[in-house]
Order: sequence, then C-alpha cells, then structure tokens
Amino acid sequence: MGHENDFDHLAQLTETVKNEELFGLDAEEVLYRLYHQENVKVYEPKAVTFQCSCSRERSASAIAAIERQEVEEMVAESGSIKLHCDYCGADYEFDAVDISAIFDQNGPASNTVH
Ligand SMILES: [Zn+2]
Repeated sequence: MGHENDFDHLAQLTETVKNEELFGLDAEEVLYRLYHQENVKVYEPKAVTFQCSCSRERSASAIAAIERQEVEEMVAESGSIKLHCDYCGADYEFDAVDISAIFDQNGPASNTVH
C-alpha cells in the first residue's frame, strides 16, 4: 500500500468523525476512536513562536553595502537612519556615530581594495 492510499484511507476515517465527537471529546479520544487500528503518535504540544531573523547586525551590514557618502548625506539630512523590519516590526536606528563605526570597521580593508 503506497503513501497515497494510506492518506485516502486516513481521509475516509477522518470523515466518519461526528461534530459531537469533535466538540465533546478531547483530541486524544477522537484520535483513538478514528485511528485505533492505526499507529497514532501524539506529539507533545510545542509552543510556536514567531522569530524574525533580523538583527541590528544585519541592518548594519545592509547599511555597509551602501556608499558611505550617500549614507552620511542621509544622516546629515535627518540626523539618523532608521530601518524598519516589515516582518516583525522592529526598528533599528543608526546615528552618525553608529554609521562611522560601521564604515570604519571595514574601512582599512576596503581602502586597500580601492
Ligand atoms: Zn524583523
């Protein structure tokens, strides 16, 4: 029996569950009634948390990818550069001191390249 057949079989079993059973019984009871001929493994519930991969370091490296002159003009205009992450809503702010730290960090290395 292939996996697709297994799935059809499980789907058929699933359709036999009644609303009263779903609402009146706890999850393990429902699973047992439906699939007791099958091997059912109930995993421990795990808390699901959203975690964004953004960080201040990543934002800094994004800034480092821009021309230093351009970045410094932006800072001169508005006092700082703000990066907003659309995924998690985090804000990262870089002022003139942060900006020069970003560029001076890889300054000597990139100077030798030019
Ligand atoms: Zn984020």
